[in-house]
Amino acid sequence: TNRAFNMKNVPLYLAGEFVQSQTQEWIDVTDPATNEVIAKAPCTTPTEMEQAIKYAGEVFKTWKETPVSERARVMMRYQALLKEHHDEIAEILSQETGKTFEDAKGDVWRGIEVVEHAGNVASLMMGETVENVAREVDTHSWIQPLGVCAGITPFNFPAMIPLWMFPMAIACGNTFILKPSEQDPLTPMRLAELFEEAGAPKGVLQVVHGGKEQVDVLLTDPAIRAVSFVGSVPVGRYIYETGTRNMKRVQSFAGAKNHMVIMPDADKQQVINALVGASVGAAGQRCMAISVAVFVGEAQQWIPELKEAMAKVRPGAWNDSGASYGPIISAKAKDRVESLIATGEAQGANLLLDGRGCTVDGLPDGNWVGPTLFSGVTTKMDIYNEEIFGPVLSCMETDSLGEAIELINNSPYGNGTSIFTSSGGCARRFQHEIDVGQVGVNIPIPVPLPFFSFTGWKGSFYGDQHAYGKQAVRFYTETKTVTSRWFSSEASTEANFSIQLR
Ligand code: NAD
Repeated sequence: TNRAFNMKNVPLYLAGEFVQSQTQEWIDVTDPATNEVIAKAPCTTPTEMEQAIKYAGEVFKTWKETPVSERARVMMRYQALLKEHHDEIAEILSQETGKTFEDAKGDVWRGIEVVEHAGNVASLMMGETVENVAREVDTHSWIQPLGVCAGITPFNFPAMIPLWMFPMAIACGNTFILKPSEQDPLTPMRLAELFEEAGAPKGVLQVVHGGKEQVDVLLTDPAIRAVSFVGSVPVGRYIYETGTRNMKRVQSFAGAKNHMVIMPDADKQQVINALVGASVGAAGQRCMAISVAVFVGEAQQWIPELKEAMAKVRPGAWNDSGASYGPIISAKAKDRVESLIATGEAQGANLLLDGRGCTVDGLPDGNWVGPTLFSGVTTKMDIYNEEIFGPVLSCMETDSLGEAIELINNSPYGNGTSIFTSSGGCARRFQHEIDVGQVGVNIPIPVPLPFFSFTGWKGSFYGDQHAYGKQAVRFYTETKTVTSRWFSSEASTEANFSIQLR
């Protein structure tokens, strides 16, 4: 059964039950291809929030005692179920985000990969041991769960990003409260239903809905130990500042402007394909989208061909196989993209392709923006400094690789970057000198697989330990170090007044 999707009022997943909220306030969930209301998300009441946190604390007492291999087995069953329901989840995801079906499947798949990684939790939670640190004294460390953890996720990856968080946190022995984006809560609800079907005990995962008011409860309630956030820069800063001020562990992934450097020795066709896909794919609504192309020297001669290739691309409905990408998530977000395009033109950039006023046959009310291309962009312009989050690519030109590196290193963001070249020397220098946390060489969107971590830097990340990989285990756990002595020989009967172990 597919309960969440058929419910016009999105349920809470509270204390192990899918229940209707008692709230009077509901947020419209729209299909961005039509702007029709397809569901309503509740603004969880303070009482319900309190109930969720209290229940998570109760369940933690038993879940943390569940053997690690049993916890891992829940993840293995979950992985299999997600695969079985891959198309169905992608269809829900497509309807509420507008993503093309293929891209929606990719969103789900990149989440499944994290669940696979969580199935390996036992070896990830191994501690360290040294014997004979002093005479008859041994030391070992254990990795233990923290308690109740919370996650707040953005609209743009409603499957992948919740799956970055709760499988790892729960596999480590924590309980988890998820507050997904109010713009597309149906996908995360389906993920929660399948998690229960996979045998996750009631209350290990709970899902609440809403916005700032509900998030503030998670940031301030003393029972919550750690908060994971993914979203925009202003909210990300607020989450980090508020969460840490309330003595919580916080990892906060925020917005980005990602540059791709094109060397004149690169393969031209590969460059053009990569730029088109990485800039307008998902309508540019990816934190790792390429929004700035930096052409070094003669590579700038390829801009007209890039324009030609981009002009052939069009948005459309999720199930239109000829569409390369879907609509912008909301009418408000679309207006913002269009007004930034206008600003780019007003500030003197060359508007080579203008996606404003785009229409799609049969869907007159969708939030469509066509592929948009600027050249001659400078660091003074708003289109360079703002995260546009639309299908807009800005081209810049530099004389040398060194200049390109300096440009990127001066950006306040550091999520992803990429270089296209056939020179090992250029690629090596770029990797080494660039102040960005995720680097692609002839790969435009270098999102690491889950045995590594998602390592954004600078203004794109606030915190210490990143998502998935080994770092997620560190983030969701404490280390306990035990030093023990077992007497097997004549023990000293004298008191030791020194700090030194004897
Ligand atoms: P958003 O910041 O508007 O919302 C993210 C979450 O925060 C939502 O759950 C929302 O309900 C909540 N929220 C909104 N305002 C809040 C407030 N004032 N106080 C507390 N919580 C609040 O982001 P979005 O528009 O949903 O997502 C797009 C953004 O996410 C982009 O900036 C994108 O770059 C970023 N993003 C970053 C990464 C990354 O890994 N760095 C990944 C995906 C998306």
